[in-house]
Amino acid sequence: SLVFGKSRTLSAASIPERPAECNIAVLGVTGSGKSALTVKFLTKRFISEYDPSLGEVQCFIYVSEDTYASEETVDQQPVLVKIMDTADQDGPANCERYLNWANAFLVVYSIDNRHSFEGSQQYLEIVSTHNKGLQPEAPIILLGNKLDMERYRQVSKSDAGAVASRYGCLFFEVSACLDYLSVQSAFHEAVRETRRE
Ligand code: GDP
Ligand code: MG
Repeated sequence: SLVFGKSRTLSAASIPERPAECNIAVLGVTGSGKSALTVKFLTKRFISEYDPSLGEVQCFIYVSEDTYASEETVDQQPVLVKIMDTADQDGPANCERYLNWANAFLVVYSIDNRHSFEGSQQYLEIVSTHNKGLQPEAPIILLGNKLDMERYRQVSKSDAGAVASRYGCLFFEVSACLDYLSVQSAFHEAVRETRRE
């Protein structure tokens, strides 16, 4: 697989045969764990306060300030997964940028924070409104993060499941600091959903 330093930019020339691509935007309120999940997916590690400018060894491609790419194999098929780790300050702002870019959306909240769950519904609303004009629609996955904080849970699984079904999206609970496979499978499920369209 490709190994690039952080200063490299993805260019078509660096990929002899362009694989299929899937652009995933990670949305949600500040503190829900978007960056931790993105970094976990990319590095298989939990890094509590990740700073991409530190220039650690990276086995993924740094595309721009908040966008990364990783060569993945999902169901035996290669795909270049690009992830935009968004950082809206107070709710959705400047959303055209990711709405126009993404093929799939991960909407993250934190199970130990009711406010983050309420915030996630604003994102579900924006993305599903955007989706209405689209053929095919971009899949949305609702992700309850910080499952390791179970004892401080403020959002029940059934409340989140109800919201997910209202928006016709998949729903998983994960933790950026527990096993890698459940985080990986959420991202891979987003890829699968785009293939189903
Ligand atoms: P973002 O603003 O959505 O990008 O959130 P961050 O990824 O920066 O995470 C916010 C805080 O929550 C940081 O202190 C992380 O270390 C912490 N965090 C993120 N994911 C988890 C998780 O799954 N479990 C726990 N316990 N803490 C987490
Ligand atoms: Mg962040």
